[in-house]
Amino acid sequence: MIEKRDFYINGQWVAPRQPNDFHVIDPSTEEPCTVISLGGQADTDAAVAAAKAALPGWMATPVEERIALVEKLIEIYPTRAEDLAQAMSMEMGAPIDMSRTQQVGAGIWHLKNFIRAAKNFQFERPLGDHAPNDRIIYEAVGVAALITPWNWPMNQITLKVGAAAIAGCTMVLKPSEQSPLNAMIFAEMMHEAGFPAGVFNLVNGDGAGVGTQLSGHPDVDMVSFTGSTRAGTAISKNAADTLKKVHLELGGKGANVIFADADDKAIKRGVLHMMNNTGQSCNAPSRMLVQRPIYDQAVETAAEVANKVTVGPAKQEGRHIGPVVNELQWTKIQALIQKGIDEGARLVAGGPGRPEGFNKGYFVRPTVFADANNQMSIAREEIFGPVLTMIPFDTEEEAIEIANDTPYGLTNYVQTQDGARANRMAQHLRSGMVEMNGQSRAAGSPFGGMKQSGNGREGGVWGLEDFLEVKAVSGWTPE
Ligand code: NAD
Repeated sequence: MIEKRDFYINGQWVAPRQPNDFHVIDPSTEEPCTVISLGGQADTDAAVAAAKAALPGWMATPVEERIALVEKLIEIYPTRAEDLAQAMSMEMGAPIDMSRTQQVGAGIWHLKNFIRAAKNFQFERPLGDHAPNDRIIYEAVGVAALITPWNWPMNQITLKVGAAAIAGCTMVLKPSEQSPLNAMIFAEMMHEAGFPAGVFNLVNGDGAGVGTQLSGHPDVDMVSFTGSTRAGTAISKNAADTLKKVHLELGGKGANVIFADADDKAIKRGVLHMMNNTGQSCNAPSRMLVQRPIYDQAVETAAEVANKVTVGPAKQEGRHIGPVVNELQWTKIQALIQKGIDEGARLVAGGPGRPEGFNKGYFVRPTVFADANNQMSIAREEIFGPVLTMIPFDTEEEAIEIANDTPYGLTNYVQTQDGARANRMAQHLRSGMVEMNGQSRAAGSPFGGMKQSGNGREGGVWGLEDFLEVKAVSGWTPE
């Protein structure tokens, strides 16, 4: 059992003020694998105080030096890649090969994209030719609380820490208590890179404790949060008393609109995308909308593809999917699968219970429902498991209506070989991102949602801007 109870505050590892042991469970075995401590008010206060004390110095550090430290972090990252991969695999269940490639790879990708964005970003610029004495200055928001989830841990941590550090914010990271180990390795990397004491701090804890203490803290200027819509609402309310800036990346219920002229890999691609990371992605294409002429064939293909998706323990090498993160999620997913059946959707692959051969571990059968309608629970709720909901449609207008009829608005997907139609769809879909024909968004593209999927954007130049205030100055003396 790994024991890692300390927090990283003001440049050193310190013991919790009051020990409060928490066992992290390996979802493949249901056995405890790590002991951490959940922080309390005194730990939160110490971390925030360190961040506040470090703020003036860090803001005054030339941006080139801040960038150079993130570049140092990028140099160190590959030396800890295997540690990160093993940690994430054990604590949140990503199969080890997927953890090495996708989970670890996402982190370095974001850090590099921030460097590129920052080098082209004018932190000071004139307002315009019409006003030579007006200056716009972008400066750090201040002390940022970064609250991250367990599903893509290194992805989320780097998206927040990379941007905050370059922007000149100091920060307190509270990673998910379900996946704290990778975050502590990341803190070791920050230390090795040589960030000044207090710029980056890490306190472990849960939502009710450290999470709430951070969102209500008078010395925290901003909260950047990724996770459930439930917690996003709680954070917004708690942050309102101190009117801090709140950045939210929340859930999704993305539509994957497949027209009759889609390429012949579209169905398979959509199913596999849904199953990736065992369905635990906020941008998962969880509602597959298929145009009627190809619908029956699409259902058959989707079932075949899902039946071929293998399930296995996270430490096993290969292309299988792992367990879901914990018992709570497993139980919630099972209840939603049962609701799908009870509400009359047609189960064509998977179903309730563990996959054959498993009597332990939070494993879920890759599941496909056909003949669903958009009012069913499996079409409305974020299941966050390997469960695909298929809905037929006739016209483009109907597809848009169904796709947009959701409280969420994160990513929608379109499969068609008609370019004009693809562009029309992009304009009508109410989501922060639209992806066409399996083409992923390029480096530096902003990630974020509309409606109950949150606000703000992460990644690239938009990610930096979220950690920056805009200061307008008149009477500037040009040098
Ligand atoms: P969660 O939102 O409860 O946890 C995410 C992070 O927020 C963790 O660090 C947690 O400690 C913290 N947190 C929780 N409540 C908080 C509060 N009141 N104040 C401050 N911080 C708080 O998510 P979960 O319970 O782990 O998962 C539940 C559901 O959330 C999932 O089924 C899924 O639908 C959704 N989810 C979405 C994402 C995403 O990327 N959008 C990520 C994880 C979970």
